[in-house]
Amino acid sequence: MSILEMKDVYYEYRNKYQTVRAVNGISCGFARGKIYALVGASGSGKTTVMSLLAGLDLPKAGTVDYEGVSTAQMDRDRYRREDVAVIYQGFNLFPLLTVLENTAYPMELRGMKPAEARRRAAERLRAVGLEDACHRRYPSMLSGGEQQRVAIARALCAEAKIILADEPTGNLDMRNSCNVVETLCRLAHELNYCVIIVTHDMAVAEQADTVMRMQDGRLISLPV
Ligand code: ADP
Ligand code: MG
Repeated sequence: MSILEMKDVYYEYRNKYQTVRAVNGISCGFARGKIYALVGASGSGKTTVMSLLAGLDLPKAGTVDYEGVSTAQMDRDRYRREDVAVIYQGFNLFPLLTVLENTAYPMELRGMKPAEARRRAAERLRAVGLEDACHRRYPSMLSGGEQQRVAIARALCAEAKIILADEPTGNLDMRNSCNVVETLCRLAHELNYCVIIVTHDMAVAEQADTVMRMQDGRLISLPV
């Protein structure tokens, strides 16, 4: 059932002076077709969980398993490149490239022919609700919510089944937040992605299928 699973995961940051136990024994699973919201006070460990799920870091104890294989055992570069799409708070779009070019660019970098990259980019833009009329615009000509949807379209790799987003609506007003969250819900419910978002905003969290609350590196309410 779960495509991604955390099994008794611990993580700590260590420097000369102190050790911070950022994730303190978390076990939970995430399924395709669902959207999860991770909430909790600043410093509770949300971003650390996301970087463990993204394969950017490895647990100090326990495992993060994708399709049953631990991130410690797999080819993590491939996992990061092909299996997970990561979306950030800042949209990081190139201002001098059009919406279509921004979306096609990573595919071209990976060696895809420009015409094919643009065809796929247009498909993904439509999947996040951005119609052809805006594909030739520059990012500055779009609302914040539309820019974030371009960033989501760009992050969707052909193979990715998981979307991870840390505060994807953090820079957006309420209306723009709503359209970004609706887009993420649609990607889960209609296109069968497993979507996990971190948010401070309870109105955003309530749109999710499951809300998971973190406190001091632990989950205090488990998904049903
Ligand atoms: P959140 O995203 O919920 O705000 P984080 O996962 O960023 O929480 O941080 C969890 C804890 O780990 C906090 O106490 C934070 O100060 C600490 N922490 C995060 N990143 C580092 C780091 N690079 N070095 C040392 N401590 C860190
Ligand atoms: Mg954070």
